[in-house]
Amino acid sequence: MRATDLDLRELLEFEASGGVIRFAGERAVVLDAVALGLLRKQLIETLGQTAARGVLTRFGYAHGWRTAEAMRTAFAWDSEHEWKIAGGRLHRLQGLVVFEPVVAALGEGEGDGHRPFAEAIWRDAYEAEQHLLHLGRADAPVCWTLCGFASGYLSRCHGRAIYCCETQCRGRGDAVCRMAGRSREEWGEAFAEQIAAYEQDCLDDALRGLTRRLSQAERRLRQRSAALQRAEAEELEPGVVARSAAMRAVIELARRVAEVDSTVLVTGESGVGKEVVARIIHARSPRAAGPFIAVNCGAVSEALLESELFGHARGAFTGAGQARLGLFEAAHGGTLLLDEIGEISPAMQVKLLRVLQRREVRRVGENTSRAVDVRVVAATHRDLAAEVAAGRFREDLRYRLNVIDIAVPPLRERPDDVLPLARAALAAAAARARRPAPTLDPEAAEALLRHRWPGNVRELENAMERAVALVRGPRLTAADLPDAVRLAEPSPVTAEGATRPLAEVERAAILAALARHGGNRTQTAKALQIGAATLYRKLQRYAREKPRAKRARSK
Ligand code: ZN
Repeated sequence: MRATDLDLRELLEFEASGGVIRFAGERAVVLDAVALGLLRKQLIETLGQTAARGVLTRFGYAHGWRTAEAMRTAFAWDSEHEWKIAGGRLHRLQGLVVFEPVVAALGEGEGDGHRPFAEAIWRDAYEAEQHLLHLGRADAPVCWTLCGFASGYLSRCHGRAIYCCETQCRGRGDAVCRMAGRSREEWGEAFAEQIAAYEQDCLDDALRGLTRRLSQAERRLRQRSAALQRAEAEELEPGVVARSAAMRAVIELARRVAEVDSTVLVTGESGVGKEVVARIIHARSPRAAGPFIAVNCGAVSEALLESELFGHARGAFTGAGQARLGLFEAAHGGTLLLDEIGEISPAMQVKLLRVLQRREVRRVGENTSRAVDVRVVAATHRDLAAEVAAGRFREDLRYRLNVIDIAVPPLRERPDDVLPLARAALAAAAARARRPAPTLDPEAAEALLRHRWPGNVRELENAMERAVALVRGPRLTAADLPDAVRLAEPSPVTAEGATRPLAEVERAAILAALARHGGNRTQTAKALQIGAATLYRKLQRYAREKPRAKRARSK
């Protein structure tokens, strides 16, 4: 028996009814890669990177050691060498990695001080993928359990400690992962940190305090780098404006998710910019060169939606004069955004689920299926969990769609974005109208910040479009804004839920009243039941202070 003779169909024993699965005679379980990724994330968040790495490395080590042990007696190997090199092939057969040995076969003098005991290129390592998905790009190798496995396997085979370290890793941005197994002395000081993860005592009491301090230091570093990022330009992505921490976190998540082909569910109120998020995911993904197609599932009838999504054969129904390919086929190699997914009928939900599971579509009126390679991003303004509870949405479809959930916050919860978004929308609307973009005058900026924006970014963009049509002169005033915006009452509570200082509430109330009365001070003072002189004095002071107005002009 040679390592290359190992066959998954023979290694794996299972019954159709499930229950107990065996791999090379040992009981095994099938675990979801994303769930393992979430476990990694929680370990890192709970224990800190160093301790989490130790746990996962030793978990892999135990797995590798046990696999070597089981393999030794499971087969009659042609030579001990075949048993030794079977580890890499098993790694691949277990679905952990696409393995490619660099040194085909080491004979005598293995690990002779120059050549490593094993060396391999790992493609599509599940661990690097999961790290990128949940934690983003790392600055050091991340395939800890995979290295652990290789070390455990080799150490058992050779009867001495062999340490596998990565010299390249996809998790830190290299094209592939590259691993080698050497003795501790051969690795030298440069790899001391990777090798330390193998030490059992790194969780001992003596080191526990150190781990805690390390995790605190890591948290501080994360906070500092997050603060640095906030200080960077407002435009994180071409054409996407986000100053608020909440929206920047959304964009960061979208970029991270883009690298892995999972289905994503984008949720948020109407008009918050769910399509913008879907476009970022597409543009940042390996599918960026392919098509991006968006369809609003709530805007078409059920019958039409089916042929729209899946296509139809010629003569499939009245009016189907020509065969037509559906959007799934049109988006082949790219991304399909299914917007307002919460609106589709139960029958359509079943059909969609089937397509997502089988990755093939059947055109209406045809009997054969066509394979499609499409990344699906779904979006909805509804709470799908509540829709499932109410029996209106299939739970299995929700799970299928909601591998990653990106919640886009409403505009009122991120007031920092209002003015930058307004300026970007003004510039865009002015460009369409072929005229110079007006600037916001302080009162207009006040009004924009006061409004609650129930229609979110879309409402803001519409208001700016309208204002560009109405504005006379280079400055946009409160009078150019829709009544609902211009006359918005100031809220005594800030968007973050804090109580607004009285002076600020008073100021906003006075400016709102002045806007309501078209700038007429006598009427405004009367309506506010204060003296005209008092009103005049306060307005004078606001004109001097203009704190927001300064911010409004500075950009
Ligand atoms: Zn790696």
